[in-house]
Amino acid sequence: MESNGGEASRLLREIDTLKAAKSDIEHRISILQSQLGEIVDKEETLSSSCSPVPINDSGVRNGLSPEMIYRYSRHLLLPSFGVQGQSKLLKSSILVVGAGGLGSPALLYLSACGIGRLGIVDHDIVELNNLHQQSKASMNRIDLIIQSDKLISGLNYGFDALIIHTEAYISQSKVTSAAAACRAINSTVQIVEHKEALRTSNALEIMNEYDIVVDATDNLPSRYMISDCCVVLGKPLVSGAALGLEGQLTVYNHNGGPCYRCLFPTPPPTSACQRCSDSGVLGVVPGVIGCLQALEAIKIASAAGEPLSGRMLLFDALSARIRVVKLRGRSLQCEACGENAAFTKQLFREFDYEKFTESPLSASPLKLNLLPRSARISSKEYKEKVVNGEAHVLVDVRPEHHFKIVSLPKSLNIPLSSLEGKLLEISSALKGEEQRSGLVSGSGASLYVVCRRGNDSQRAVQYLHKMGLTSAQDVIGGLESWAHDVDPNFPTY
Ligand SMILES: [Zn+2]
Repeated sequence: MESNGGEASRLLREIDTLKAAKSDIEHRISILQSQLGEIVDKEETLSSSCSPVPINDSGVRNGLSPEMIYRYSRHLLLPSFGVQGQSKLLKSSILVVGAGGLGSPALLYLSACGIGRLGIVDHDIVELNNLHQQSKASMNRIDLIIQSDKLISGLNYGFDALIIHTEAYISQSKVTSAAAACRAINSTVQIVEHKEALRTSNALEIMNEYDIVVDATDNLPSRYMISDCCVVLGKPLVSGAALGLEGQLTVYNHNGGPCYRCLFPTPPPTSACQRCSDSGVLGVVPGVIGCLQALEAIKIASAAGEPLSGRMLLFDALSARIRVVKLRGRSLQCEACGENAAFTKQLFREFDYEKFTESPLSASPLKLNLLPRSARISSKEYKEKVVNGEAHVLVDVRPEHHFKIVSLPKSLNIPLSSLEGKLLEISSALKGEEQRSGLVSGSGASLYVVCRRGNDSQRAVQYLHKMGLTSAQDVIGGLESWAHDVDPNFPTY
């Protein structure tokens, strides 16, 4: 009993000591807050006009609560930003379209810095294979301006550099996940969730509720649609893109600067567009661009500095170079914002952006259907042929660096781009297989073609048929189908 009593009094003493320390810390915080208030007051007196400054309940002369002053003190201490900049931010509203690789860092910084209202639009769900790089974006066509022979322009891709979505949110809406992360960073920001795809049918209503729009989307029709909608509504647009190891950033439709259509009146051919899901992207690249998008949005919202309007920032990760190039100004002939443009809300609602760009608004992978069923074989059927030991050659038409990631046993890698010069190689592989299986020459080793998703394999089979290899068949759905229907342990990428 005695020892229990001794333990209890030791704990009581420790609690008393901690309480005293807590009281000291609280006292110290209140002294610092009051000192901060004085600094801010001085700042205000030096920089403000003669207009009276409102005094809030706590007696601070700037409309910011003590909590806000404490939370945003580092912003307030910036002479070029200060109380005025922060007050404007707190009153502003920003919509981020896309909660992927670009949207994720943008959303985190926008919530941390104290935007008044932050909207998030996305219809996607969180998946494991986009956790490393949470975003979807697309390249603008700056290369068109700088270097017309190299067009790395923008279609959708599904890369995701995950810095906002966690494994706990797999299979949940990206908006739910992103909103939870933003609230966890700053519970004072009003977060508005739009769990839907942005379309012409809802874009005007959604975007009209915000002062500034951040385009963090992943496809070309969305770029045109968002830009046109910003023109119709008179909103500034912060546009970012990332592909591979390069990123781009600009501000459209702001202070008389150009809109997206001014620079790109006609969409690029779809063949000139690359997708991150096909071409790859290093997650930190959209991370950098997304942060810069947040910065541009903050500059516009707080009227600080010089927004990137009429200029474009180009980021080259490999050489660690950042360049800013001047863009063409607003085009008088622009169909959206030009002198005689009659692009109304009604026309916007009726405009078919998918038809205009010949690209889908959703980021779902392309599924071609070029061949009759007789020229195709399912992954399960192919598996049976392998099990039965059927004499055959499997040509994998993916690029070599894809083949290095993963491939089916005994497949022959001949990328689609070099198929034309490799027909002899295929013929001799077929002959070798016939001899190996003891078949009479010409009586038939089968020829199958596979790729990642079953699109390029169809193109390859079309070509092989034309060149006389009429028995060639493609594996429907490619290696993704193999992994889905035959071998769940086969890696997908
Ligand atoms: Zn324009």
